[in-house]
Amino acid sequence: MNILVINAGSSSIKYQLIDMDTELPLASGLVERIGLEEGVVKYKTFVNGEKKELKETFPIPNHTVGLKRVAELLTDEKVGVVSDPSEIQAVGHRLVHGGEAFTKTVEITEAVKAKVKELFPLAPLHNPANLIGVEVAETVFPNAKQVGVFDTAFHQTIPEKAFRYAIPVEFYKEMGIRKYGFHGTSHKFVSEKAAEYLGNKDAKIITIHLGNGASMAAVNGGVCVDTTMGMGPLCGLIMGTRSGDIDPAIIFFLAEQKGYSVNEISNLLNKESGMKGLTGQTDMRDVEKLLDEGDENAILACDMYAYRIKQFIGSYAAIMNGVDAIVFTAGIGENKTSIRKLVCEDMAYLGIEWDEVKDKNRTDGVHEINTDNAKTKVLIIPTNEELEIARQTLEVVK
Ligand code: ADP
Repeated sequence: MNILVINAGSSSIKYQLIDMDTELPLASGLVERIGLEEGVVKYKTFVNGEKKELKETFPIPNHTVGLKRVAELLTDEKVGVVSDPSEIQAVGHRLVHGGEAFTKTVEITEAVKAKVKELFPLAPLHNPANLIGVEVAETVFPNAKQVGVFDTAFHQTIPEKAFRYAIPVEFYKEMGIRKYGFHGTSHKFVSEKAAEYLGNKDAKIITIHLGNGASMAAVNGGVCVDTTMGMGPLCGLIMGTRSGDIDPAIIFFLAEQKGYSVNEISNLLNKESGMKGLTGQTDMRDVEKLLDEGDENAILACDMYAYRIKQFIGSYAAIMNGVDAIVFTAGIGENKTSIRKLVCEDMAYLGIEWDEVKDKNRTDGVHEINTDNAKTKVLIIPTNEELEIARQTLEVVK
């Protein structure tokens, strides 16, 4: 079966067509700058080990035009990978916020769409765009089943003492203000891989997803018991442009002292903070260049970045009463040695001992980077959110 995975944003659609017999991608790409003067469609195929790549630039006024072009490319005589859109039997959608309504992956019905709409206030930037993706896919691939995979679902097992905030009860009961957590698909994927690698389904695992957005999860026996993001994706770890945890008093201080509006403060904390605010650079590769030049802001920013991760490792080891493995994943987690080193330094008390040589000799797949005698495994596990979405979609439609 071929499954198309779609991650629709407000001005972009990421897509990947996966052959579920081999679990390998047939094609993938991105539609971006939707609604702007010049849109872009990027398309890559991998059939028979042969890579073909193309990029088109033309006005893409809306998501429908973008996805229609993707469907044409997928079925194109020269670069296509299927002969007819009906060979795509299911579409798996990344849906960011499932609130408390969705604890698992579901086939998308009218009722599901209505519920996702109801949740717009909780994810105003993501859910509306995700829903557009669903509605467009329904028209472009009318024969395919549409399935929703929620970023929040894996975290729905977090106990109430961990997901509630200490504010008056009615704000939870009436408005759903609580911790939800995100990146659930990635935390699920890598924690399952880690448990499999350890040969222990009861393992206590701390997953550390470090991409542009970053979050951690405490997974005890396959069940998520806590995570660092909250009602939205702003809190917890320091990220590319998001501050992560700050004292909420800072918000009032900025409003009072600078006269900032809610929008200005939101913009500051979501888009101008994190590594960007500390170093001027969002991308870790650029921060790395600053480090090479001995830039003091970059050195401090990386120390802060790793310190925050350490704090949560300690916290999660405490709440699970132990830790069998910590897992680094996503762009920075998989690629940035110096961050892994900083995080693992002086953690022998928790059985965490990083091995530089093993870290250098990277292999594909699950890669162990702890010393031979360390009590706790330190693993690098590449995440694959598209494959996880496709697998869950298959479970629902088969
Ligand atoms: P997202 O899916 O959240 O956009 P990714 O998982 O792709 O994020 O991670 C993006 C981050 O990973 C960027 O900050 C980028 O600099 C970093 N990254 C990717 N490759 C490397 C690398 N080889 N070395 C250091 N950082 C890297």
